[in-house]
Amino acid sequence: MVVWSRIWNTFRAMAKPVRWIFAAALAAFALCLGCLFAGVTTGYRVRYGDAWIGTVRSKTVFDDAKASAAKCLTESDAATCLCEPAYEPVLTRANAFTPTAALTTSILENTDDITLASAVLVDGERVAVVPESARFSAYESAALDRYKTGAAGETVTLLSKVEFSAGYYPVSALSDDASLQKAADALRVQTVRTETTETEVAFQKVTQTTAAQTVGYSKVITAGKNGVSRTTVQVTCVNGKETGRKTVQTEVVQAPVDQVTLVGTKVVPKVVPATQVAASGFIWPVQRVARMQISSYFGDGRGHKGIDIAAPANTEIYAVKAGTVVTATFSRSYGNYIVIDHGNGVQTLYAHANRLLVSAGQTVQAGQNIALVGRTGYADGNHLHIEVHINGTAVNPAPYLGLS
Ligand SMILES: [Zn+2]
Repeated sequence: MVVWSRIWNTFRAMAKPVRWIFAAALAAFALCLGCLFAGVTTGYRVRYGDAWIGTVRSKTVFDDAKASAAKCLTESDAATCLCEPAYEPVLTRANAFTPTAALTTSILENTDDITLASAVLVDGERVAVVPESARFSAYESAALDRYKTGAAGETVTLLSKVEFSAGYYPVSALSDDASLQKAADALRVQTVRTETTETEVAFQKVTQTTAAQTVGYSKVITAGKNGVSRTTVQVTCVNGKETGRKTVQTEVVQAPVDQVTLVGTKVVPKVVPATQVAASGFIWPVQRVARMQISSYFGDGRGHKGIDIAAPANTEIYAVKAGTVVTATFSRSYGNYIVIDHGNGVQTLYAHANRLLVSAGQTVQAGQNIALVGRTGYADGNHLHIEVHINGTAVNPAPYLGLS
């Protein structure tokens, strides 16, 4: 009490102007003290573009936010879109400063030349920027439709990987229709469809033999008909260009019908004219053809049991007289040979035939074609070896055949 009354008395003792100055200083001191206790401090209001976007303690806080904003921009030159702020000093409470992150967002949102958009990434590469992904999706589905052929069961797949990356982009980076179309045209679209083709299958020609018809007979008894086979192929295209073709299935729709030709095998016995009959009653045993000659006579210094008549292969051999075939077989020395019994102890033998046309037990007429000339058995060339046996003994055939 004593202290306060002494201060009061001192104050009253002051001259009037001094007393006022003292009071003002005291009030200012009290104010500063008040501010200090209330958390009030100095700072700057920041004006960016047309808006007040926050309050910062120092200008470097804004610079940091601006740097962060620049980092959000994918365009390297986007930082040039950002403009300079205006500052206004203010007294403010320390807990009222704008957080840097909020400031960054405000910078981006209040920059006229920047917009929130989506980059279109095709296989990781930026090909366009659109306000929203749906804008490109329309082009994308048009690209898919473009390569559809309408084939049943066709699959259409987008091979390119399309992604969207949302962010802040310069307005100038937004793609126009032409750019979007160009980007869509570059998309890789795969179509897979199946194709079926029918092809003709050629018929086969087969032959059937019949003993009911003679050699030389030939008649188509079943007409040939081509078949049809169906092939299913899987065709893969990328942007309409064929890149693969795979056969999935091959089936016979209609089997071909073989053409069947009936061929006769029956050999008609041939009888040579009677004018060729020798005085003995034997006829000449070989068809008269060019290059026919006696190549070896009976005896011949080596005990040759017959006569060799050389003639081209398959020259007809005739029975010299009517009789019964007693042997028609093959031996190592005679090859294919025939023995005909003519009765009265007379037999004739025909050797080295290429082919026998009669069989044992069969009766033959004089001049009947019984075999064809060949070189089977021990024979140096094509010839008929003919023997004449009288009561089991080989005799010289020459007189029987009209040879001197
Ligand atoms: Zn001989």
